[in-house]
Amino acid sequence: MSENPRLGTRTVWAGEEEYLMQGATQVPVVHSVSFGYRDLDEWLQVALGRKEGHIYSRNTNPTVQVFEEKVRNLEDAEAATSAATGMGIISSTLFGLLSAEDRVVTVKDTYGGTNVIFNEFLPRFQIKVKLCDTTDHEQIEKEVSRGSKVLYLESPTNPTTKVTDIPRLVKAAKAVGAIVVVDNTFATPINQNPIQLGADLVLHSATKFLGGHADALGGVVCGKKDLIDQVYHYREINGATLHPMSAYLILRGMKTLELRIQRQNESALRIARYLESHSAIERVYYPGLPSHEGHQIAKQQMRGFGGMMSFMLKENTLEAVGRFITRLRFAHAAANLGAVETIVGPPATTSHVECTQEERAKLGIPEGLIRYSTGIENAEDLISDLEQALDIFV
Ligand SMILES: *Cc1c(COP(=O)(O)O)cnc(C)c1O
Repeated sequence: MSENPRLGTRTVWAGEEEYLMQGATQVPVVHSVSFGYRDLDEWLQVALGRKEGHIYSRNTNPTVQVFEEKVRNLEDAEAATSAATGMGIISSTLFGLLSAEDRVVTVKDTYGGTNVIFNEFLPRFQIKVKLCDTTDHEQIEKEVSRGSKVLYLESPTNPTTKVTDIPRLVKAAKAVGAIVVVDNTFATPINQNPIQLGADLVLHSATKFLGGHADALGGVVCGKKDLIDQVYHYREINGATLHPMSAYLILRGMKTLELRIQRQNESALRIARYLESHSAIERVYYPGLPSHEGHQIAKQQMRGFGGMMSFMLKENTLEAVGRFITRLRFAHAAANLGAVETIVGPPATTSHVECTQEERAKLGIPEGLIRYSTGIENAEDLISDLEQALDIFV
């Protein structure tokens, strides 16, 4: 789009126009595996990347391209590429950028699967990984200044919603030429734009808020063209390609992204305040609460605090969590987040299912923690539902 409309207009229109066929008002789902050329010279020009076009859907596909373009537009980035899942894009980004002997600095609270890449897979390829305490900005700055190819951040984090000061850490990274990558899944482009805050690459599990309906997996990364080209090159070869049907479902979900996020921002803040005042609750982790340790930073770099929170029951056991969540009427107990329905679950079966109990304890994630993904239901109903479920503890 030529002029710059606001986010809520871009979620609906961006990227679509030139792909609409024969007056269709919706993007076509192009299932074709390959794209034919009568003219061998034209085919060659496209294959060499000198002319726009598609060759083979493992590499690029029209429906998938519309999805990439929409997210690129919302994140104010130069370029974007996608993958079959969030982990597909995270692993493609890390393996596409890093080589043996490179050093990567990151934080302990990244998403569970991401943590496995840092702890298990990168070291196998002689890539050096330094995990810092997520909110210890001085430690992160110190480690980055010792030299690093990539600084990998996630803010807010999963599940305890820790917040890192992106502009501050970008400054440290720029000083040594490190590439800053931010997982923006929890915030979404509606609440936070890491590229505007100075990051080089921003990525999403599109499975969550972008799609928003828990019916399609996907991942996307946006940023400078030369970096995106490196990630794309790795992803076209590893083959973790986003399916056109999933791209379409996510695109459809994204039309209501701003509406959903605004609703979830508002409801989550009300619910977090309610839970914080409840006698059966030990602690609530939500960046929108003044009691949250990252509240001031969140206020500076986010436009809204998002739909994700977690909280601890005073009765801090997995067994109590089980009793509580099975009483909720309007919440799926499931390993997902960011959908129109409210979703709850303990980290042991959701974000950190890949970790052992000892590893979770080391990460400061109590067994009795409940992750709460606020849906778009009526907030009054969600609060009454929590109230009746919490009654067993009072
Ligand atoms: C879910 C999630 C991922 C992984 O995404 P998948 O689509 O499940 O592969 C990565 N980061 C965050 C913050 C997530 O919540």
